[in-house]
Amino acid sequence: METLKETLMTTLRNKKTSMAKFRQAAEKLSIILAHEASTFLKTKKIEIETPLDKTSGTEFDSDVVLIPILRSGLVLLPAFLEFYPQATVGFVGMKRDEKTAIAKLYYQNIPTIKPNGQVIVLDPMLATGGSLADTLDILVNSGINQEQILFVGVICAQEGLDRIHHKFPKIKTIIAAHDSKLNDKKFIMPGLGDFGDRFFGTE
Ligand code: URA
Repeated sequence: METLKETLMTTLRNKKTSMAKFRQAAEKLSIILAHEASTFLKTKKIEIETPLDKTSGTEFDSDVVLIPILRSGLVLLPAFLEFYPQATVGFVGMKRDEKTAIAKLYYQNIPTIKPNGQVIVLDPMLATGGSLADTLDILVNSGINQEQILFVGVICAQEGLDRIHHKFPKIKTIIAAHDSKLNDKKFIMPGLGDFGDRFFGTE
C-alpha cells in the first residue's frame, strides 16, 4: 500500500500532471485513505451463515459523520461514502484569504453527532492548520470529544500538524505525506500547489 500511495503522490505532486490524471490519482488515493480510516472505527463481531456453514464476521458499530472542509475536502468524500454508506455528512466552508492566508468561515451545516459518533474531517491539504483548527473548535465547542475525531488529509506541513496536535492532542490523523515547510504565501513545500485549483480546473 505504501508504494501505491507513493506513486499516486508523485502523480499529484508533478506539475506536468494533467487535470484528468490529477483527478484519477486523487480519487484512487482517497480510496486508500478511506480504507485506512477503517482502523479508527469501532466494530463488533456478528454471527452469520455462509451458504455452507455458520461463521463469525465483523460489522461497523458506530455512527460515522463525514465532514469535508469546502471545497477541496469534497474530493475525498465519494470514496468515504462508498465505504461508509450509512455516514451522515456535514459541511464546513472555509475560504482562505490569498493575502493573509487566514481562513474565514462562510458556511457551516453539521448533522447531529451522537455520543458514540465517530467524526471524520476531510481536507487534502493541512498547511497552517488554521481551517482545521477552526473546524475542530466548532466540533469541540458543540460537545464532541477530541477522541471521537479523525482527520484525514493528503499532505500536511509539519508546523500545521504540530499546531493541531498542540491544541487538540487527542485527535487522530491519517495523512499520506508530511512535508517540511510552508513558503511565504503559506503554501506547503514541496507540496503540489493548490489542490482545489488542480482538481477542479480553476487554476
Ligand atoms: N491549500 C492547498 O491547496 N495547497 C497548499 O499548499 C496549501 C493549502
